[in-house]
Amino acid sequence: MKRFAIIGSGCAAYHAAKAIRERDKEAQIHIYSDNDLGPYNPMLTTYFVKGAIPYGALFPFGSREEIQSRLDLCWHPNCPAAGLDPEQKAIRLGDGTEEAFDGIVIATGASAVMPPIPGLDLPGVFKMRTAQDAVELKERLESGTIKSALVIGASWVGIKVVEDMVEHQVPCTLVDGAKWMFFVAAFEETARRAQKDLEAKGVQVACEQMLDHIEALPGGGLCAVMQNGRRFEADTVAVCIGVRMNVGFLRDSGIAMNRGVLVDAHMRTNYEGIYAAGDCCEAIDIQSGAPRNIGVWANAGRQGDVAGANLAGVPMEFDANILANLAHYLDYDFISIGDVSACKETDQVYGYEDERYYIRAVRSPEAIKCINMIGSADSNGIVRNIFIKSIKEPKAGLDVPAVCQLQRNGFPDSFIEFLGGISVD
Ligand SMILES: Cc1cc2nc3c(=O)[nH]c(=O)nc-3n(C[C@H](O)[C@H](O)[C@H](O)COP(=O)(O)OP(=O)(O)OC[C@H]3O[C@@H](n4cnc5c(N)ncnc54)[C@H](O)[C@@H]3O)c2cc1C
Repeated sequence: MKRFAIIGSGCAAYHAAKAIRERDKEAQIHIYSDNDLGPYNPMLTTYFVKGAIPYGALFPFGSREEIQSRLDLCWHPNCPAAGLDPEQKAIRLGDGTEEAFDGIVIATGASAVMPPIPGLDLPGVFKMRTAQDAVELKERLESGTIKSALVIGASWVGIKVVEDMVEHQVPCTLVDGAKWMFFVAAFEETARRAQKDLEAKGVQVACEQMLDHIEALPGGGLCAVMQNGRRFEADTVAVCIGVRMNVGFLRDSGIAMNRGVLVDAHMRTNYEGIYAAGDCCEAIDIQSGAPRNIGVWANAGRQGDVAGANLAGVPMEFDANILANLAHYLDYDFISIGDVSACKETDQVYGYEDERYYIRAVRSPEAIKCINMIGSADSNGIVRNIFIKSIKEPKAGLDVPAVCQLQRNGFPDSFIEFLGGISVD
């Protein structure tokens, strides 16, 4: 009987455990977690805060106890890995003991970044990543003690916290150090439009505001002071400025890393029998061919599947690692697919706008580089699949079902042609 260990207990860990169990009924599967919860979906935390879902809905695979029994797992709650000996395939625990296994999946995810900026430890300053973060913010919002909010970080997480504030009728300002919102995903034109639309919903937005420190005001409340001297007062400050991969315990272990654990298409690390999946790793970005951390829910699940299957002896590859995200907020949606920074001045720019859709996209003769869309959440899947196919088979063009689907969804012929298809009558 084989013994496997999974470090972490999120989406990637769950999928890895399930993939192993589906292929090996006898194996002992150990889950080492730094908390006592079952796998939950961090992207649903803000939906819980605004009251759209109950607490239990954060746990899409069931409770820890249900999963433990369904997949026959040995779960070690509140038992984080403190180190790893990849030669021995051994996990070192907090008390210094080591446990060796036949194979290990590292699935420790990422944490919200809270840099050493003065004032980030003041009461009223919070982050948004864990179920506990969500419970605390919801309690504060429902107690009515939050009268104004400042959200720092105008990207995927910050925008969802803004939505929570607006839904609770809390006046909110959104600031970011970058030149425009969604800086790593949006073309400037798209971002300016999204900013205007957000301001029309009553949210103040200020870009190019780099936080210097936060101070407590004498009469209560907080003031976030920017490096340019501008001051933003609010009684609550949400810091949503990015994530750090939870890989500190691997330093000096010999596991190859950049910011996250480096893996190949099989989710293999540089050590035989040791895999990594989800937000803690950098898989190969199929657009650039280079390793990139793309921390999204679907990737975590698929990468967990692939790591688990390979560990159980069934070869599988993950071949869809591309930058792609959808932000749905305040009855608005923004989608970005591909790498905005890969675009060059010589590339072809496509723009389209009607009452329903806003599209801005860039391509070279060889490849689509990046697509921004507003108002097309329903078409996220199809456009993402077309994008992936265009990378894998650049000369293939669109197949008839894809063209028909785009036409049914109301996209103009010019966009279909831009994507490589010919409209069908
Ligand atoms: C507010 C918010 C909004 C989001 N919105 C979206 C979205 O719209 N679309 C999308 O696709 N994705 C979104 N995401 C990202 C998505 O939630 C993540 O990509 C996904 O949850 C990653 O899963 P994971 O299993 O890799 O990591 P995690 O969910 O972070 O799970 C890792 C687990 O491992 C535990 N752990 C850490 N270190 C150790 C250790 N040493 N030992 C044991 N256990 C450890 C952690 O506590 C955690 O429980 C959002 C995230 C947030 C926070």
